[in-house]
Amino acid sequence: MIQTKVLVVGGGPGGYVAAIRAGQLGLDTVLVEADRLGGTCLIRGCIPSKALIHAAEKFDDMRRAVGDGVLGISLREAPSIDLKRTIIWKDGIVDRLNGGVGVLLRKANVRVLLGWATFTDAKTCMVRTSDGEETVRAEHVILATGSGPASLPGVAFGSPVISSTEALMLDRVPERLLVVGAGYIGLELGTAFGKLGSDVTIVEARERILPNWDEPLTNPVRRWLERAGVTLHLGATVEMIERSEGVAVVKVRTKDGVTRPIAADQVLVTVGRTPSTQGWGLEAMAVDMAGPFVHIDECCRTSMRDVWAIGDLVGEPMLAHKASAQGEMVAELIGGARRQFDPVAIPAVCFTDPQIVSVGLSPEDAGASGVDLIVAQFPFAANGRALSMEAGEDGGFVRVVARSDDHRVLGIQAVGAHVAELVGEFTLALEMGALLEDVAGTIHAHPTLTEAFHEAALRSLGRAIHI
Ligand code: FAD
Ligand code: NAD
Repeated sequence: MIQTKVLVVGGGPGGYVAAIRAGQLGLDTVLVEADRLGGTCLIRGCIPSKALIHAAEKFDDMRRAVGDGVLGISLREAPSIDLKRTIIWKDGIVDRLNGGVGVLLRKANVRVLLGWATFTDAKTCMVRTSDGEETVRAEHVILATGSGPASLPGVAFGSPVISSTEALMLDRVPERLLVVGAGYIGLELGTAFGKLGSDVTIVEARERILPNWDEPLTNPVRRWLERAGVTLHLGATVEMIERSEGVAVVKVRTKDGVTRPIAADQVLVTVGRTPSTQGWGLEAMAVDMAGPFVHIDECCRTSMRDVWAIGDLVGEPMLAHKASAQGEMVAELIGGARRQFDPVAIPAVCFTDPQIVSVGLSPEDAGASGVDLIVAQFPFAANGRALSMEAGEDGGFVRVVARSDDHRVLGIQAVGAHVAELVGEFTLALEMGALLEDVAGTIHAHPTLTEAFHEAALRSLGRAIHI
């Protein structure tokens, strides 16, 4: 029997950050992970998908250079891709970061148990490790079991119907890829495989791609997909998938009510993620639920005393940085600090072509509260750095949303190549309660994309220089 102060279940970006912080605070901490340290994000999510996206961009650049070339650079022959080697490169990054998480946990004196945890009561779990069973009893339990891919009703996963996990391990670029769901994963991976040479079809139930983002932000992405020859079926649903000899025929009911069979070598289902609440004794812990998620308060406390829950398990947004922020906070609360989870903004980034970022309120959301707004945007077509990086012609822009009475910034959004790297400044501006004058009065280095943010703020004050 291991007795500990803190038991963390799940070694994803929620759980491992909670464990490291608890260890740093001198709390006796045990982390249990059934698979590999790093969780969904590091092993089969954020990092591998961004590596694949990067490789796909390189390949696409080279494809575009064949013949007359671009920027005076040309290739005589079309490039080829050996996806097996790309995946080995991607796995190398994952392995390195996975090892790094292990080192950080050791440095923080966290004891790691590799095995599946099953709770018998709220503070006791049995862990099935390769060396046998261990019982762990803790004063505080942090639940961070994350989420798994949702399947289509009545359609089990199994090749050729795959989730993002298998899509990130393919050893061949599928000739025909059908993606169900035009959300984050469908569009990030659909775009990457399109660049790698797949003939991509996307089926989305709602009327537009990325339905949780506002339309002006998603229009440049939709235009890119159309230019790249990706077939979009919007307002469409999958009626049935027939599998035979490794190939699928997907019956798609289109917006106009017609059922069309579409053949595909792989069907990538990306219709959301389901919190991992099954198979580990959650029902024995007597915690309240909020729909499919574990219910928490503003401190990530569950309804059971000294049982905490964080990350994808507790609901939207299912993002790694939210999980980590909650994990860090819970460890500090257990350590005696006064904290609560009340960020002004949780940034969201979609790694499509072009990229989209959003922090705080969109004009629509801000307008719904009845306040008078100033909304201004500045196009990357007028930004020297964007043009010098071929990032100015995709219809991208930075937009600021502010209250018109006191000029407090309420939201910042951008779409364009490389805009993911601007999101830190946007989030900081909101957390610090910036006014439009604060952004306008900050010298932004030239030539950088951040000047577009500065100019958007200047424009909102009626004094833009470069437009
Ligand atoms: P997870 O990372 O899911 O970790 C939970 C861990 O708990 C797992 O390792 C699991 O093995 C373990 N576990 C579960 N049950 C038990 C048990 N009973 N015993 C022991 N261990 C257990 N988010 C972003 O912010 N940016 C991105 O770019 C991004 N890209 C993504 C791309 C893809 C393809 C996917 C699928 C997700 C992506 N996400 C991204 C989402 C991100 O991965 C999740 O929000 C994040 O991993 C959630 O962290 P978590 O710690 O809550 O859970
Ligand atoms: P999602 O919620 O982003 O998108 C799912 C899409 O599928 C939606 O557009 C929805 O309308 C559509 N859909 C649902 N049921 C459907 C059906 N039967 N037929 C057709 N379309 C259907 O979910 P996801 O793309 O699976 O990603 C899961 C989560 O992972 C995201 O919500 C996000 O939190 C996280 N993630 C984040 C990033 C990032 O931060 N860059 C990247 C990937 C994933």
